[in-house]
Amino acid sequence: MPEHGRRPYISGNWKMAKTLSQARTHIEALLPLLPAGGGIEVGVCVPFTALEAVVSAAAGSDLRVCAQNMHQQDEGAYTGEVSAPMLVELGVTGVVLGHSERRLHFCETDRGLQEKVPAALAAGLQPILCVGETDEEREQGDMERRLRSQVQEALEKVPLERLAEVVIAYEPVWAIGTGKSATPEQAQEAISFVRALVGDRSRPAAEAVRVLYGGSVKAENAAELLGQPDVDGALVGGASLDPDGFAKIVAAAAP
Ligand code: PEP
Repeated sequence: MPEHGRRPYISGNWKMAKTLSQARTHIEALLPLLPAGGGIEVGVCVPFTALEAVVSAAAGSDLRVCAQNMHQQDEGAYTGEVSAPMLVELGVTGVVLGHSERRLHFCETDRGLQEKVPAALAAGLQPILCVGETDEEREQGDMERRLRSQVQEALEKVPLERLAEVVIAYEPVWAIGTGKSATPEQAQEAISFVRALVGDRSRPAAEAVRVLYGGSVKAENAAELLGQPDVDGALVGGASLDPDGFAKIVAAAAP
């Protein structure tokens, strides 16, 4: 465990990839490649259709199985949506919220996330809240303003005593799926800023909260990014689809 006591966390985000049978095969290949001992928390964020199969394939291991979205209400007239209690009953233990692809293509808003993040916690799911600026916002010097509004709004209704349980993923939009990762210095700068934003509500929570980097992480650049003092792990998209490549990223997170 690093000196600051935050356990490194590497989570794969499969996005809309892998059928049920492909998911099962992937987990069977991945599990033997993961380090034993629990020093690193490892998760996979899986399409709804494969969740049950992945929970079952991962049974008995420490692999955390997460969804990629959820609705803030427990039930109701929301056709096509899935709620936190539905996920919990499947054995799911976490959920990605506010991924930039959901913000861009599916009208996810900071206001909606303000309901979703506490709803996930209340149901017993670990939320991974994604935040990050576009390249235009960065070029215009608006990165901090954007991160401030995303973090403050999404965390506003999280009870103080549960703030540290939220995992935040800093994912600059320009780095997601582009092959162009942030530099280690850019990741460190933005992530220490995100931590300071949490500190505006609670200093102890800011020390304890885990902030991951996401955006074109691969085996080749993982060690450098994860070596930054405030980078507590990674949310990995494309490179998580290959068990060997993903396992190498996990290995790079060893303290
Ligand atoms: C992601 O899906 O959250 C992501 C960071 O994707 P990629 O690693 O492919 O850039």
